Amino acid sequence: MSENKTRRGFLGSLAATGLTAGVGAGAAYAKVDAPIRTSNLSSVGNEYVDPRKVLMYECTRKEIRERYASGKLKAAIIPTGSTEQHNEHLAIVMDIAGSLLMSQQAALKLWPQVIVTTPLPLGICPYWMKRQGTITLREETFINVVYDICCSVKTHGIDTILIMNGHGGNGKALKENAPKFASKLGINIEACSYWESISEEQKKEFTETGIVAGHADEFETSIALAAYPERVHRTTYEGTEPYQWNVDQEDLDRIGYYLADWDTPEWDRQSFEDSKLATAEKGEKIIAHAVNWIAEKLQGMIG
Ligand SMILES: [Zn+2]
Repeated sequence: MSENKTRRGFLGSLAATGLTAGVGAGAAYAKVDAPIRTSNLSSVGNEYVDPRKVLMYECTRKEIRERYASGKLKAAIIPTGSTEQHNEHLAIVMDIAGSLLMSQQAALKLWPQVIVTTPLPLGICPYWMKRQGTITLREETFINVVYDICCSVKTHGIDTILIMNGHGGNGKALKENAPKFASKLGINIEACSYWESISEEQKKEFTETGIVAGHADEFETSIALAAYPERVHRTTYEGTEPYQWNVDQEDLDRIGYYLADWDTPEWDRQSFEDSKLATAEKGEKIIAHAVNWIAEKLQGMIG
């Protein structure tokens, strides 16, 4: 069985249990091929729900208006991520694809109470700028954009927001600022990263290395193999040299570039080696676990 078939089977089986369903990362990012259309209808309780309809940006204004008017829409999820290098084998989109996937699946599970906003695919990753393909925001820019999204959502009448993060570098800033946003806007706002669903003691249950979340290693590569295997490119490690530049360049100052002391050539190589332990089966287990955790957390916030 090909990885693609495994993936469809996995998402289809979630649909069959009424847990959730979908095309993984959503139409905004995923290449949706013909056979996957069969999983575009999902059973949620007694209803059939098109998984795109939990994505705010896939709806028409009429559909959104009617959902607000129904009184059933209680909360929004804002997926956040990053556009950054993910070693030799994994696509740069990984972090936002991961948080969007988890957000969409959790929203389907809580249908019709939850909607997912447009994801924020850029985050705080100045330490990866030495790898081409990375785009970083300054913390101030990132936080201001997230705040403006919260303002927009609140303005239209939603008073519960979960910021669902998929990039480690955003975590601290989001945790610090979510309570400030909440008190400024007078609504309920929390922020978490989906791997918080896995406790310290559980890390070995989900990965052989025990490293959660890591970076482009066993954990993330497993999620990708389960949900969007076309984003994993098995390749050999070429011991790539980081990009060299003039460190006095003012552009780098503007984005807050710095060298991370943990990012050694050995660490990079080890992450790549660990990614070979990744399997779609591990990814399926992680996704199902994280989605349940997010849905429970959000249901608790809704009350
Ligand atoms: Zn990542």
